[in-house]
Amino acid sequence: MAVGEFELIEEYFRQGGAALGVTLGIGDDCALLDIPAGRQLAVSMDTLVGGIHFPKNADPELIAERALRVNLSDLAAMGAEPLWFTLGLTLPEADKLWIKSFSQGLFRVANEYNITLVGGDTTKGPLAMTIQVHGAVEPDKALLRSGAEAGDLIFTTGCVGDGAGALAVIKQELEVGKSAFNYFMQHYYRPEPQVSAGCLLAGLASSAIDISDGLMADLGHICTESGVGAELKLERLPLSDPLKKLVPREKAFEWALAGGDDYQLCFTVPKRQLPRLEQLTDQHKFEAHLVGEMVQGSGIACFHNGEFVAVDSHGYQHF
Ligand code: ADP
Ligand code: MG
Repeated sequence: MAVGEFELIEEYFRQGGAALGVTLGIGDDCALLDIPAGRQLAVSMDTLVGGIHFPKNADPELIAERALRVNLSDLAAMGAEPLWFTLGLTLPEADKLWIKSFSQGLFRVANEYNITLVGGDTTKGPLAMTIQVHGAVEPDKALLRSGAEAGDLIFTTGCVGDGAGALAVIKQELEVGKSAFNYFMQHYYRPEPQVSAGCLLAGLASSAIDISDGLMADLGHICTESGVGAELKLERLPLSDPLKKLVPREKAFEWALAGGDDYQLCFTVPKRQLPRLEQLTDQHKFEAHLVGEMVQGSGIACFHNGEFVAVDSHGYQHF
């Protein structure tokens, strides 16, 4: 790392003040961290590459927000409480204004979700960033993909399809008015990781995943890992008003099923646990939209008002 970049880290990434479990933060060769007593560490990493996962000329404040938010979504999907994160940042040049605005977006989200930056690495090269998040979860309460059983009900914490809608708007494939444009931009760059829902569902839901590659693909992972199948009721899929106004119903279903970037949780709950779930949703702790049921067998079957619908899309796959 070139001299000068030390100053950038000092100025834009090293924050003073004590943080939970951080004995030593940024500035030494390693951070020293204390995992809360009796809890397991949940660790996850995501890389975003400029030009692939976000437009290279996008506002750095928004890129930072999105990068941290999608990582927090993985902690949410595990039912883990956010603790710390590290940041690997690769930049074509040390543009102070860019880094300043990036760090502002980053710390806005970090403060909102109470997660502390404890280290990282800064290198020169094509624009990319990797974030690793660390969270805490009680042993045996983490939300795995493998715990669903036939008869469990399937829920999402919010609308599906907006991520695909946002991408179409960003790519200028569709014309939209100003308020819809703002809605989809907000959704794309500032998705709301369902962290508090995930923490409350730990020990209650039988399985969970965050919807990053599309409901079919992600629920498909739950099916595979749990060794069961699923039935989805399309008429129950929660669609946002802006999405319903943007495209015809069939397109909205297609995006809800096979689009990505929704960052809601898809989770399953055994029927005996429904009273507890209802208690939480009645108290407005989070939303739970019933979309289907796990069944014996394998794969996902879709129905619209009771009629079988052949859906051949399996969500966005990277490779
Ligand atoms: P080393 O040479 O030991 O890898 P560095 O010079 O890369 O150390 O980093 C110095 C300190 O700054 C370390 O504590 C490291 O974790 C931190 N750091 C470097 N880059 C970043 C970054 N992008 N975000 C947060 N902390 C960073
Ligand atoms: Mg280094």
